[in-house]
Amino acid sequence: MTSSFQIAVFEGDGIGPEIMAPTVKILTALAAQSDSYDLSFEHLPAGAAHYAKTGEGLPQMSLDKAGKADAILLSAMGLPDVRYADGTEISPQIDLRKAYNLFAGVRPVRVAAGGLTPLKMPAGQDIDFVLIRESTEGLFYTQGTGEVTKDDARETLRITRKTSEDLFKFAFNLAADRKAQGRGPGRVTCVDKANVFRAFAFFRGIFDEIAAHHPNLVADHAYVDATALWMVQKPWDFDVLVTENMFGDILSDLGAGLMGGLGLAPSADIGLHQAVFQPCHGSAPDIAGQGKANPFAMILSAAMMLDWLGLKHGHIQMIADAEALRTAIDHLVTSNTTVTADLGGAATTKQAGDAVQHIVTRQAVNA
Ligand code: ATP
Repeated sequence: MTSSFQIAVFEGDGIGPEIMAPTVKILTALAAQSDSYDLSFEHLPAGAAHYAKTGEGLPQMSLDKAGKADAILLSAMGLPDVRYADGTEISPQIDLRKAYNLFAGVRPVRVAAGGLTPLKMPAGQDIDFVLIRESTEGLFYTQGTGEVTKDDARETLRITRKTSEDLFKFAFNLAADRKAQGRGPGRVTCVDKANVFRAFAFFRGIFDEIAAHHPNLVADHAYVDATALWMVQKPWDFDVLVTENMFGDILSDLGAGLMGGLGLAPSADIGLHQAVFQPCHGSAPDIAGQGKANPFAMILSAAMMLDWLGLKHGHIQMIADAEALRTAIDHLVTSNTTVTADLGGAATTKQAGDAVQHIVTRQAVNA
């Protein structure tokens, strides 16, 4: 029996539509060759260009339709010169995160053996870990409402039991899924500063409670400062890291730095019922319209979407297709074939997308 999934698509700004086009094309081709799942795409308006035209960054209709879709695929959003009246950027991705309580910011860090990284890697070694950043509270709790006087400024760090429990359950489930796929030893590391702050001792205590329900997985702790050091010295030792919002914000950029650049860094914001998949990079207005944007981070984000839908609905083919996309991109990057200028190649966005599609469908790709 074929299951149908409806995907809400936000094309974004700048290079956004250029990298979304090959991604939707590849997903369509994958679904067409599968007899177990089917994908339909609804393009919804949002973003800086839409705001400039209509005065709305994320229309209510788009927000509602996205909430009802099976998953949300979102390209790079925002333009530096287009701002709301209060000076902030148009960021529908943040509005979606708040509206649907997408508490788990998932940032995979992968470097295939022989892949691009500024690190000196032991021969044959790869890096494959996931950083989960809590995305709704922590030190961002008072974002925009911190108290500032002439002599004093305060922000509040908030950790709640409910969100922490959901976050840690998500982390352990992810580690179990990765272990089942042969992608990790099944270990979750709680990254905190429990030796200094009571709020982090509380965070760690809840982590230990949830860990007790997962005797088949390894649970350990690390301080955030030591984690930053180890991410540079021995990132291949990590499996799943879970941390507070601000710590995760900083460590996820360090993680992106371990990979071959922004053009290879995917992400997801996941809640209990909905999820958004998007590249880590911005809309790159400096190269928009030139056909040279790297589509790989967008395609890898779509692979995360296939993984999430596949695990949620028990579709092995979707999980296999996600892995096929990752393997195809690993192959193109490590062999330095058909990659865009940011990775040292000369391929156009379309050629890079078609190369991925050719590998995963084993068919010539028509224009
Ligand atoms: P934001 O604040 O919206 O995240 P940013 O200021 O960090 O954006 P980006 O838009 O991510 O900036 O771009 C940073 C640099 O990386 C730019 O030079 C841009 O051209 C380049 N870049 C970003 N994404 C890509 C991509 N997919 N392909 C090629 N180059 C990219």
